[in-house]
Amino acid sequence: MKIINIIIAILIVSILGSIGYLYNATHTIEQNLHNNLNKMFTDHVGSVSSRIATFLQKYIKDDPYIQLKNDPKLQSFLQDALSLTAVSPHRYVYVLYRDEQGRYRYLLDGSQEDRGEFNQKLDVDTTKWDQVYNNKKPQLFLHKDSSILYITYLYPLMIQNSVKGIIAIDFTSELPQTIAEILAPAKKIIDYLFFLLFLLFIALLYQLHLYLTTRKKAITDTLTQTYNRSYLKTFIEQIDPAKYAILMLDIDHFKKINDTYGHKAGDFILQEVTSTIRQTLRKEDHIFRYGGEEFIIFIKKEGKDDNIIKIAERLRSTLEKTPYHYQGHNIKITASIGIVAYPEKYRSIKEAIKQADEYLYEAKRLGRNQICYNTDIIKKPHPVTSEIHTIKDAIENGRLFLEYQPIFDIHIQKIIRFEALVRLKDEEGKVIYPGAFLEQIAFTTIYNTLTKEVLRQVFAAIKKYNVKISINLNFSDITDNVIFEIIRQELEHHRNLAEYLVIELLENEAFSQFNNLQEKLQILKSYSVKIAIDDFGSGYSNFEIFRYLPVDVLKIDGTLIKELPASKITYNMVKSIALFAKSIGIKVVAEYVENEKTLKLLKRLHIQYAQGFHLGKPKPLEAYLQNSL
Ligand code: GH3
Ligand code: MG
Ligand code: MG
Repeated sequence: MKIINIIIAILIVSILGSIGYLYNATHTIEQNLHNNLNKMFTDHVGSVSSRIATFLQKYIKDDPYIQLKNDPKLQSFLQDALSLTAVSPHRYVYVLYRDEQGRYRYLLDGSQEDRGEFNQKLDVDTTKWDQVYNNKKPQLFLHKDSSILYITYLYPLMIQNSVKGIIAIDFTSELPQTIAEILAPAKKIIDYLFFLLFLLFIALLYQLHLYLTTRKKAITDTLTQTYNRSYLKTFIEQIDPAKYAILMLDIDHFKKINDTYGHKAGDFILQEVTSTIRQTLRKEDHIFRYGGEEFIIFIKKEGKDDNIIKIAERLRSTLEKTPYHYQGHNIKITASIGIVAYPEKYRSIKEAIKQADEYLYEAKRLGRNQICYNTDIIKKPHPVTSEIHTIKDAIENGRLFLEYQPIFDIHIQKIIRFEALVRLKDEEGKVIYPGAFLEQIAFTTIYNTLTKEVLRQVFAAIKKYNVKISINLNFSDITDNVIFEIIRQELEHHRNLAEYLVIELLENEAFSQFNNLQEKLQILKSYSVKIAIDDFGSGYSNFEIFRYLPVDVLKIDGTLIKELPASKITYNMVKSIALFAKSIGIKVVAEYVENEKTLKLLKRLHIQYAQGFHLGKPKPLEAYLQNSL
C-alpha cells in the first residue's frame, strides 16, 4: 500500500511539474524575444541619433535657434538632410530646443508626415525632456503597447559642451505582432497540450479515487469500519510475523445485549467497542473483525520493550470501564482476550492465530473478562489430529473402546459411579483420545455412529456388572433429532438398565434452544436416566439453566477444583456453588481432584462426590471392579 502511494505521489508531482515547466517556458521564450528585440532596436536608434548629432555639430556652432532663424538656407538644408534618415521604422525624426519659459519648440523636423514649423511649440512630457538637458545623457521611453513596439529616443545636441537642443526619434515596429503571429500556432498547441494534460491529470485523480474507495470497501467491514476477514488473508501473507503480536478479543455474553436491547443496540455496541479499541491502541496496530463480536488485532512491536500483556490489560480494563449510552440505557461490556506474543515461533501465522483463539477460549473458560497467553513462549506441540477416514475406520472395525474413571463418595470412600470416556485405537493399536477426533466428526454421521456405539457398550457394561455409568453429551446432541432418537431407542431397548445411566451434559457455545432441550430431557428422564451438568462454574454454564432444566447432579468445573488449594476466591466460589446445589437438592461432584489437599478442602466444603487422578485414573472397567467392588 505504501509503495503504491509513493508511486502515485511521484506521478502527480511530475505531471504538475511538467505542466508548470511548459507553461513557464512558453512565457519565457516570448519575453526573451521581446527583450532581444528591444535591445536591438535601442542600439539601432542610439547609433542613428549619435550620427545625426555629429552631422549637426558640423554646421551649428552656437545657439541653434539664432543661427537657424538667421540662416533659412541652412535650416532647409539641415531639415532635408534630417528627412533622409526618417525612414521606416523611425519615420519621426526632429530636433527641439527649450525656450526661456521652459517650453519645447521645433528647430528642425525631418518627419515624413505631420511636420512641425520652425519655432512651433510642441507639448511634451517636460520632466523627461528636462532630464536630457540636466544629465546630458540620452533617454529612452518604451511606450506600453503589446502588439506594436513604440520607442521614443532623446539624444542631447551638445554645442560647446552644453545641451542646446534634443534630437528625438520616434520608432515604431510591428515586429512583436509578427512574432506573436508566428508563435500563435505553437502557443495554441501548448495550450491544447496543457488542456490535455490537465484532463489526464483529472482522469488520473478520478481513477485513483475510484481505486482507493473500491479497495477500501473491499477490505473494510461495513459495520465497524475495521478490516474484514477477507483482507486478513492478504494481510498475513504480507507481514513479517516477528514484528507483531496477535491479540484475539471477543465480547463476553454479547448475545445477551442483542436479547435484552435488540439487534440494533448490538450493532451500536459493536461500533462503539471498535472505536474504544481504536482509541486505546496506536495507528500502527491493525484491527480485523474476525467473527460476529470477535476481533483479531495485530499489535505492532516497536522494540524489545513492548509489553503486549500490558497493552492487552489496558484494553481489557478500558472496555470494562467504558459505559455505552444507548437510548437511555447505560450498557457495559467486558471482553476476553487471548494473546500470542511471538507469532514467529509458530509454523505459520495461521497456526499462531489458531493458538490465540485457543487462549481466548481458555479465557472464556476461566470466567471471561480476562487475558490468557502462553507464558513459556516456546510452542507446545499440537495434539495430533486424526483424519476422518481413520476415525470412521476405527469405529466401524471395533476399535472404539471405553475407559472408566471412578466417581467416589468421599465420605464413605466408595465408588458410586463411573464416567465412561471414549477412546479409539488406530491400526497399530495406538490409543487416540477424544481431543484428536471429536471435533472432526461433529455434525457428521460418524458422530451418530459413535454415540450409538458408546451407548451400546455402556449398556453392555451395566448389564454385565450392574454399575452406574455416566456418559458425556452436548446440549446440542439432545436437541439434534437424529442423535436424540438414537439415545431414546437405546433406552427403549434397555428399559430396565436405563436407571443406571447418567448423562453428563456440556453446554455448547451459543446454545439457545432451551425449550427444546427441556422437553427432550423430560422424555429421557421418564426412562429414569439421571441428568448431570458438566463443567459448571466456568465456560458457558451459568445458574440460569437450573430454572429450565431437570438437573440431578452438578459437576464443578475442573479448573476451579485445580485452583482450590491456591486461591481463596476460587475456594469461595466452589463453596457457594456447593451451598446453592444443596439448597435446591442437587448432588455435587468435584472433578480433577489431583491431591490430598484438594480432597480435604472438598470434605470441609461438604462436597460429597469427587473424581480425579488422585482417586482413580481412567482404566478398563474390570480393573476397578476386581479391586474395589
Ligand atoms: P461469550 O462470552 O462466550 O463470547 O458469549 P457471547 O454471547 O458473546 O458469544 P456467542 O458467540 O454465544 O454469541 C455471539 C452473538 O453475537 C451471537 C450473534 O447473534 C451476535 N452477533 C454476531 N454478529 C453480530 C452483528 O453484526 N450485530 C449484532 N447485533 N449481533 C451480532
Ligand atoms: Mg462473545
Ligand atoms: Mg463468540
